[in-house]
Amino acid sequence: MSSDFSLPDKWLKKLDRQLQELIDRIGVDRKTLDEVFDKPTLLRIGKLISNNVIDHFDFPISTGKEAIVFRAVTPNDDFVAIKIYRTSNLAFKHIAKYIDGDPRFNLINKSRRGIIDEWAKKEYKNLERLKNANIRVPVPIIKMNNILVMQYIGDFNRPAPLLKDSQLANPKKTYNTIIRFISLMYNKAGIVHADLSAYNILMYQENPYIIDVGQGVLLEHPGSIEFLRRDIHNIVHYFSRFDIKDDEKKIFNEITKKK
Ligand code: ADP
Ligand code: MN
Repeated sequence: MSSDFSLPDKWLKKLDRQLQELIDRIGVDRKTLDEVFDKPTLLRIGKLISNNVIDHFDFPISTGKEAIVFRAVTPNDDFVAIKIYRTSNLAFKHIAKYIDGDPRFNLINKSRRGIIDEWAKKEYKNLERLKNANIRVPVPIIKMNNILVMQYIGDFNRPAPLLKDSQLANPKKTYNTIIRFISLMYNKAGIVHADLSAYNILMYQENPYIIDVGQGVLLEHPGSIEFLRRDIHNIVHYFSRFDIKDDEKKIFNEITKKK
């Protein structure tokens, strides 16, 4: 195993105990855990614990095909969200399409693990850019290989629901905010999300948060314009159920016109 650090036994033991507790408490099956927590990943989590980034895992918020997101508790009893990319079963074709053509990343001579690390790095960098452009996103905290630690969106009782599962107090306002975020992403951050939909927006205290930005591409990416059209379409289409009618083409033109 290649790992750039080693951990004292006591951390590994502590981790193992924590994992067993998770299994007992919330019934995540061992197979899922083993799939995500391969040895290098375990060592990294041990490192997060020994560096006081987290104290322990709370529960899995979501188990997706490519990543699992956990709520974790910090030594100060705050929450953070931890996204761990699986190192197995990844849809590489899917990923390569978004990294190729991005001058920030280089896939040549990279192993599968290396590519996943690049992907997590891309998500981290995109979150940083979006935050700097005043778009509401979970603030990125630390990235370590396939692990991304970020601000937890939600309260003590539950993580923030997805837009698709939310009752909106003011759909028009939410819609306008999301369109403004798409424009800020394009015009200020220089990024197109490329997978924007009611599945990748959290609603917390009536505010939308953009998440899952790993596939976001820079404007110079050859697919960026198509992705932008699709993002706009998904949002306009979703909000049509609230009787909000808007012209996708007009929005596209306004967002992309030279300012
Ligand atoms: P994927 O869709 O690739 O599995 P996402 O980044 O969309 O990964 O995260 C999966 C789910 O985890 C989201 O739908 C959301 O419910 C939850 N989630 C992700 N990030 C956070 C966060 N920072 N705070 C709270 N919940 C989150
Ligand atoms: Mn998602």
